[in-house]
Amino acid sequence: MKISKRAQSVPNSATMAVDSRAKQLAAQGIDIVSFGAGEPDFDTPDYIKDAAIKALKSGRTKYTATAGIVELRNAIAAKLKAENGLNYTAEQIIVNIGAKHSIYEAMQAVLDAGDEVILPAPYWVTYPETIKLAGATAKIIQTDKKNSYKITPQQLKESLGKETAMLVLNSPNNPGGFTYSPEELFALAKVLEGTKVIVLSDEIYEKLVYRGTKFVSFASLSTDAYNRTLTVNGFSKAFAMTGWRLGYTAGALEIIKAMERLQSHMTQNPVAFAQYAAIAALGDPDGSVEKMRGEFERRGKYMAERLNNIKGVVCPEPTGAFYCFPDVSSHYGRTINGMKINGSMDFAKGVLEQANVAIVPGLPFGCDENIRLSFACSLEQIAKGVDRIEKWLSQ
Ligand code: PMP
Repeated sequence: MKISKRAQSVPNSATMAVDSRAKQLAAQGIDIVSFGAGEPDFDTPDYIKDAAIKALKSGRTKYTATAGIVELRNAIAAKLKAENGLNYTAEQIIVNIGAKHSIYEAMQAVLDAGDEVILPAPYWVTYPETIKLAGATAKIIQTDKKNSYKITPQQLKESLGKETAMLVLNSPNNPGGFTYSPEELFALAKVLEGTKVIVLSDEIYEKLVYRGTKFVSFASLSTDAYNRTLTVNGFSKAFAMTGWRLGYTAGALEIIKAMERLQSHMTQNPVAFAQYAAIAALGDPDGSVEKMRGEFERRGKYMAERLNNIKGVVCPEPTGAFYCFPDVSSHYGRTINGMKINGSMDFAKGVLEQANVAIVPGLPFGCDENIRLSFACSLEQIAKGVDRIEKWLSQ
């Protein structure tokens, strides 16, 4: 069967590979602790479900405007103004089918063959693929663990070239669990002044920040930053709405219009009644977002503490998202239960097959020294899973 070169160039998601093996083992009756999840374990709050049901019952079942209903775009504009200090009109906002779609479409709208995109590692696995699908090249920048895996202004300066079209920033970060401070972001913004580089700021984990961390939108740093930034956000993580598929992009009118043209031929509007539910979601009227955030904070602190107590494991306490990203490389080179551990892929395989804990290797995120553990699961599960890893490594 003929498969396009484009489709052939995209590998299966490495996170999915671990997940399907874990499911296979679970189907055999093996008790697997899963730290693989990239989604909240909480259900969507009832007030959001109720709004969707109401919209369905009142006939919100038809096509809508491609970029999303104006009421939702107005609500997002109001949110961006009130919570992020950003002035966008409704026309500068497009609602997409998940933030993943926002990122794909933004890159399709902006990038050409020959363009370079600066991508600091660790990075979310989807970015390199969406960059490639847009015909551009990812310029991966290896960050330093001493700088909590964040790109420095100096590194950014050195990586800029005449082909640089975009910088991808993701704070709070998946998989790193770190967050850039306002000062760090400002220093990066300064480096970009005088360039044509567009910043794609993926702010999907905005609401999940810990230890007093202050979230700041890149576009709010200065007029220059505002003009060059595409702000990407969505409903999946903050409101436990992963299955609803709702994300959005805000930025320069020209780019948003280009995205709208693409979207009109690809998917058209996001699901009509889900858009009405999204209006209700914004603002956290019943405090459920804050409750989830607090719970994630407790779990992340506990998981990092436990991991740090394991010999040869170094885990910064997360300041955002719901991932611990420890360095486990001091165990590389060892043979555990007859299995040689040469990198994060072997580590993940060993810990799944021999200790029955599903984690995600760091290699597909651009950091082979690390592994990713999601704490979107109960404290009991965290305790049980980390006990198993500890025991496995102590052999
Ligand atoms: N950006 C990052 C960094 C993510 O981790 C995810 C979800 N894993 C997304 C974007 C996409 O979220 P969604 O498509 O569900 O809105």
